[in-house]
Amino acid sequence: MTAHAPKVGFVSLGCPKALVDSERILTKLRSCGYEVAPSYDGADVVVVNTCGFIDSAREESFAAISEAMNENGRVIVTGCLVGETETIKQDHPNILAVTGPQQYESVVKEVQKAAPMAHNPHVDLVPKEGIKLTPRHYSYLKISEGCNHKCKFCIIPSIRGPLQSRPIHKVLREAERLVEAGCEELLVISQDTSAYGLDVKYQQETWKGQALATRFQDLAQGLGEMGVWVRLHYVYPYPHVDEVIPLMAEGKILPYLDIPFQHASPSVLKAMARPAFAEKTLQRLSKWRSICPELAVRSTFIVGFPGETEEDFQILLDWLEEAELARVGCFKYENVDGARANELDNHVPEEVKEERWHRFMAKAQEVSTKVLARKVGQTIDVVVDEVDEEGAIARSQWDAPEIDGCVFLNGETELAPGDRLQVKITHSDEYDLWAQL
Ligand code: SF4
Repeated sequence: MTAHAPKVGFVSLGCPKALVDSERILTKLRSCGYEVAPSYDGADVVVVNTCGFIDSAREESFAAISEAMNENGRVIVTGCLVGETETIKQDHPNILAVTGPQQYESVVKEVQKAAPMAHNPHVDLVPKEGIKLTPRHYSYLKISEGCNHKCKFCIIPSIRGPLQSRPIHKVLREAERLVEAGCEELLVISQDTSAYGLDVKYQQETWKGQALATRFQDLAQGLGEMGVWVRLHYVYPYPHVDEVIPLMAEGKILPYLDIPFQHASPSVLKAMARPAFAEKTLQRLSKWRSICPELAVRSTFIVGFPGETEEDFQILLDWLEEAELARVGCFKYENVDGARANELDNHVPEEVKEERWHRFMAKAQEVSTKVLARKVGQTIDVVVDEVDEEGAIARSQWDAPEIDGCVFLNGETELAPGDRLQVKITHSDEYDLWAQL
């Protein structure tokens, strides 16, 4: 790379899916010879990848755009806030361009316009796995874009379009490259991982001489052969998910499922128009646990959805206790511009949402404390994410990075990120574990 290559600053907001988009844009920019500027100073142009999912995320995105304009002034906006193009342009008439989510080529073209570069022949300096924003030992693997559902609180299908699955051999090839580059944990993401391949009618492809369908089960099987941790996110509790649980019991796939249940009351789930709303989830969980007792299920919930009664909310609390989910997130319902839920009757007053949120979190904490306390005394595998002067911060198979808990190894300052080891759990609290070698 020449010393004269233009530098691009990058601000990435939002969910892991947006992070993958950012990684792809950066990879393309690097392959064109651009350098990445670590700060606004010295960046020839700044790309802000925005999130427009809920109002607070939109506010954060608007604030990031203003900051980039003030600090640098040469700004390209991309991502989910594209519906707000006019507002962004009104607020910042000098903005260079606004492009939509997954428009990687448009972002690259706009960067080339803003900071043109002479031909650079060193394109193959780009690492095969691309430029990653995550640490080297784990990577997000995006298997599809878009979503065929129409949950009433969500505008993602209108922004990202219907489900478009990547062919299975391409996903497995990307996974293999990441593993070859040192990645030890693949985090499978999409809007609806269990629906993978539905749009392409589960098309058959060939991978290493073997016929595999572009389908959730075959993907899990293919990834399970790679010898690294494989973690499945955004899975819905459809019957065919049963087929991957034996792979978890065999240790091929991590005993972990991220299932965004959002609620447990059938009437609220129906009002939300959630996928798999009629599934008997407690029965399904108990069947899965009978095959793979180690299984950890993490989830997110929304309290205060329009029409949610005290009885619905109580169903949710009871369900949470019975399901024994140790890792949960909870949001208070918010209107999102363009979402159908805005038009529903019986919006829940703010103070009731607030009160339910606190009750939910108290119950979640109680459940998680109980589940984690059972692990004390066990010897488990962990991976180290960070090391500081007090010791190492690791993670178990039951914990995804950023969203779940940690395993603290106090005093272990000689370890390094990416180290895998066996530790004995000595202590637990409501969210985290402590262990010794
Ligand atoms: S499944 Fe529902 S919440 Fe998830 S992206 Fe699709 S419409 Fe949105």
